[in-house]
Amino acid sequence: MLDFNLSEEQTALCEAARRFTKERIIPVAAAADRDAKFPKEVFEEAWRLGLINGTVPTEYGGAGLGELDNALITEQLAYGCTGIQTSMLANTLAGTPVLLAGNDAQKRKYLGMLTAEPRFASYCTTEPSGGSDVAALKTQFRKVGSDYVLNGEKCWITNASLASFYVVFATADAAKKHKGIAAFIVDRETPGLHVGKHEDKMGQRASDTAAVHFEDVKVSGENLLAPEGEGFKLAMETFNQTRPDIGAMATGLMQRCLDESVAYSRERKAFGVPIGEHQLVGAMLADMAIKTEATRLLYQKAAWNLDHGVRMPIASAFAKAFGADAAMQCSTDAVQVFGGNGYVKDYPVEKLMRDAKVLQIYEGTSQIQRVVIARALLKGSS
Ligand SMILES: Cc1cc2nc3c(=O)[nH]c(=O)nc-3n(C[C@H](O)[C@H](O)[C@H](O)COP(=O)(O)OP(=O)(O)OC[C@H]3O[C@@H](n4cnc5c(N)ncnc54)[C@H](O)[C@@H]3O)c2cc1C
Repeated sequence: MLDFNLSEEQTALCEAARRFTKERIIPVAAAADRDAKFPKEVFEEAWRLGLINGTVPTEYGGAGLGELDNALITEQLAYGCTGIQTSMLANTLAGTPVLLAGNDAQKRKYLGMLTAEPRFASYCTTEPSGGSDVAALKTQFRKVGSDYVLNGEKCWITNASLASFYVVFATADAAKKHKGIAAFIVDRETPGLHVGKHEDKMGQRASDTAAVHFEDVKVSGENLLAPEGEGFKLAMETFNQTRPDIGAMATGLMQRCLDESVAYSRERKAFGVPIGEHQLVGAMLADMAIKTEATRLLYQKAAWNLDHGVRMPIASAFAKAFGADAAMQCSTDAVQVFGGNGYVKDYPVEKLMRDAKVLQIYEGTSQIQRVVIARALLKGSS
């Protein structure tokens, strides 16, 4: 049986998230973007309402929501500002490897930390030498007795300045490539861990992004999340779980492009008629609507797969790749619909265009999604 209806609970979740976006995110989004400052009070309120850490199971203090539930919330929050929403979702990105690979004590301590108080966590794979080739990472760990010592540098880490803990991927020996990689949970206050400067970004400026440096950072053996040889698989499995969320984020951003563009096209006149009546403008609106709905279906199917134990990384990659590219196109078209007004900060669409770009970059670029998809096709797997 195929059913496209949301449950009553999902409809209520969407309504709560939509209301929060309208009342708490949209009013502060332009200033947060201008000042490149994450509005912590908005995060705290969203946390109180249960809009953050949704997938953390109830035994660790979470709401125990499914991946689809969480993605539905993500779409609604992204409508208001993908910068603010990216920082909210980074807890899910960091929490997912703990959920997938953590033992009960690790889950209780670190997922419990996120649900007991409004706190942040970061996920760290990318390094200055490159992000796409995760197997080539260089941050090194050494085993010393029952502990580990980390040295290296991560960059572009969402929420790095705010995080209480970091999920860090490191290698025993870079020459071993994916076979050398392990994963650790590192507490913020650990000596030798330093957070770099906040990046001055093109878009999603409200979200905090910074480097994290590790100088002889001692990590207890209790905080080993994935042993050597298992870290790479954990990083890939995490992306499989979280890429549908990027599709959801793209959908929210595109829905905003569409709503703003339809409203403007009704009001703005050229050649004596509302611009929406010019067929070439109407075609841009129609294309935005098609791409928004297509991405919505892709992310919902990919998230549904995860909730039903259907392992299909290609579907997560479809949602991410199609959604990110579609969002870039829709936001560029939204600026076009607004003409000169689209190019200035007095109207919301130039921010949407700047914000959309990074969807094609983080959690695996649009090229890497195609590599994943092509590889699966050639292997005959899904
Ligand atoms: C705002 C922001 C937030 C981020 N948050 C996080 C975070 O929280 N944690 C984290 O770990 N990382 C984070 N990242 C990093 C992000 O995941 C990387 O930027 C991304 O994976 C790309 O890596 P790179 O920038 O090193 O580009 P590179 O890997 O150097 O790639 C450069 C270009 O080459 C292309 N390319 C590379 N390999 C191939 C290939 N095999 N085939 C075809 N094309 C290829 C890429 O698609 C890209 O166009 C964030 C980045 C940004 C900008």
